[in-house]
Amino acid sequence: MRAIRYHGPNQPLLLENVPMPSPNPGEVLVKISAAGICHTELHFLSGLLNLGVQPLTLGHEVVGVVEDVGAGVESPKSGDRVILYYYVGCGRCAHCLVGDENLCDALRAEYGFVSDGGFAEYATVPARNAVRLPDTISDDAAAPIGCGVTTAVHAAGLARLAAGDVVLVYGVGAVSFGLIQLAKLSGAEVIAVSRTPAKLEKARALGAAHALDGNEGKVAERVREITHGHGADVVFELVATKETMAASTAALAKRGRLVFIGYSEDSYTVHPIQLVITEASVTGSVGNTLAELVRAVDLVADGKIRTVVDRVLPLGEFQKGIDALQKGQLIGRAVLKP
Ligand SMILES: [Zn+2]
Ligand SMILES: [Zn+2]
Repeated sequence: MRAIRYHGPNQPLLLENVPMPSPNPGEVLVKISAAGICHTELHFLSGLLNLGVQPLTLGHEVVGVVEDVGAGVESPKSGDRVILYYYVGCGRCAHCLVGDENLCDALRAEYGFVSDGGFAEYATVPARNAVRLPDTISDDAAAPIGCGVTTAVHAAGLARLAAGDVVLVYGVGAVSFGLIQLAKLSGAEVIAVSRTPAKLEKARALGAAHALDGNEGKVAERVREITHGHGADVVFELVATKETMAASTAALAKRGRLVFIGYSEDSYTVHPIQLVITEASVTGSVGNTLAELVRAVDLVADGKIRTVVDRVLPLGEFQKGIDALQKGQLIGRAVLKP
């Protein structure tokens, strides 16, 4: 079968032929119909994220149809449409036992990160990792749920979003579109920041009350102005450069929560007094849980969250999607069709 293979930092992704997988007992074979290109792909290519596994098939936002099932699998069945959960935890560590598989101490697989992912024609996963998809969500619209929406659900939970909160979403991409809608749903007032006018327009359309052009600078000051001095109760950092991190921290309200989802080459420096006198807290947010994927699918099925797809490309044209993402040209996901 055809697959897009990663060969390490600063090496081009290559479309190659690899052996077709077959399902072991307890697994399902999925014929992939759509796979989203996540910003994480760029971190693999630059080497900023280097998990040391290569060659590797990337792709962790994966939708398809179950084509075959291994011994002992009762559900899902052949013919079922599914979206894949990309972590396979050990099931025994303290994190797995409470459902926090994203923090597992001994992952068995992480598709598209350390195990072959979905930029391919087929994938095999444990049956529980294949979550049923309602027919009302198309393959292309479903792909960005796999990481974009689900990661937003996870981060929103960590931020303890509440009605009346002022939420600053710094940087606008697939996860941000989820965050903006989740924040709106929870009764928060959303301020989005981006350097791209079309992204700000989309942020507004999805519920952001204020859209700030990052090129104009003084983001923290403008947040204070909008909130009459209060600041942001929650800041989601999806850019995390020196400049944005300084503004994110300065924009925090008392007991504000700064949540890092994105990262760059830059380090975060803060004088403790900035956190002490405001009792602000800083946390990271990584990936998502299986329960959050199920919830994300429900939110989209119920029409409460909309995914944003910029373009759909045949698998062989993956480089066009990667290039457009790199140049900041995508408003939402580029989705590959094997
Ligand atoms: Zn992702
Ligand atoms: Zn575990």
